[in-house]
Amino acid sequence: EFAIEAHDLRKTYAGSKKSPPKEALKGVDLKIRRGSIFGLLGPNGAGKSTFINIFAGLVTKTSGTGAVWGRDIDRDPIGARAAIGVVPQEINMDVFFTPFEALEMMAGFYGVPKAERRTDAILEAVGLSEKRNAYVRQLSGGMKRRLLVAKALVHNPPVLVLDEPTAGVDIELRRQLWDYVRELHAQGVTIVLTTHYLEEAQELCDEIAIVNHGEVVACEPKEQLLKRL
Ligand code: ADP
Ligand code: ADP
Repeated sequence: EFAIEAHDLRKTYAGSKKSPPKEALKGVDLKIRRGSIFGLLGPNGAGKSTFINIFAGLVTKTSGTGAVWGRDIDRDPIGARAAIGVVPQEINMDVFFTPFEALEMMAGFYGVPKAERRTDAILEAVGLSEKRNAYVRQLSGGMKRRLLVAKALVHNPPVLVLDEPTAGVDIELRRQLWDYVRELHAQGVTIVLTTHYLEEAQELCDEIAIVNHGEVVACEPKEQLLKRL
């Protein structure tokens, strides 16, 4: 049993008058082990976001099969979606709410019963307890990113996917975010992240798949892969 499995996964975005159809995934086969920190490494446009967005239920695949935590994305889409938390790239968010309110709304969205919500524990885990009742717009960039991580965790998913978690942030904040990712992993969460920084994959991941032009061109334990680069 794997955290995420893909077999011959394909996605072609429909074109428009201005742009031709785009084959973003060209038959991806990938198995991500439970308990790993897995990196999807590749340049912009390689298909990384498309891949994870299919599992997050945000993009519809063209063909192929996939499963999250053993739940087939076609036969059990709700189960698959419940098993995954996705931290998006962009940080535009509910600026008029407080972190506490933002997490409560997310929990409501996922249908987490009030009695089972862990809102304050999650705020604590991402270091935002002190900002519990501040407005989101008053948070620093790093705090907003940590709140995004928190929002992806409200339904207690076994798999956390982070799309370019540190794109455009300075080195200090990058290291801080890496520490949070490691902490979550230590708590038992399987981590999948996309990145175009080799350094990030090298620092964080135990297994790395290299994605280019919609294809996985290599997938190996980190040490093995780095020897060949
Ligand atoms: P990455 O995350 O590796 O940067 P993406 O999955 O975002 O790659 O994109 C893969 C390819 O698909 C790119 O050429 C991108 O322009 C294209 N693409 C992504 N989303 C769409 C979309 N909604 N419509 C059309 N083309 C898209
Ligand atoms: P889906 O097939 O998952 O429903 P669409 O292909 O309908 O997604 O995406 C909607 C539109 O968004 C596309 O037609 C495209 O014009 C636009 N778009 C979004 N992101 C991108 C991107 N990265 N590159 C090119 N077009 C994009």
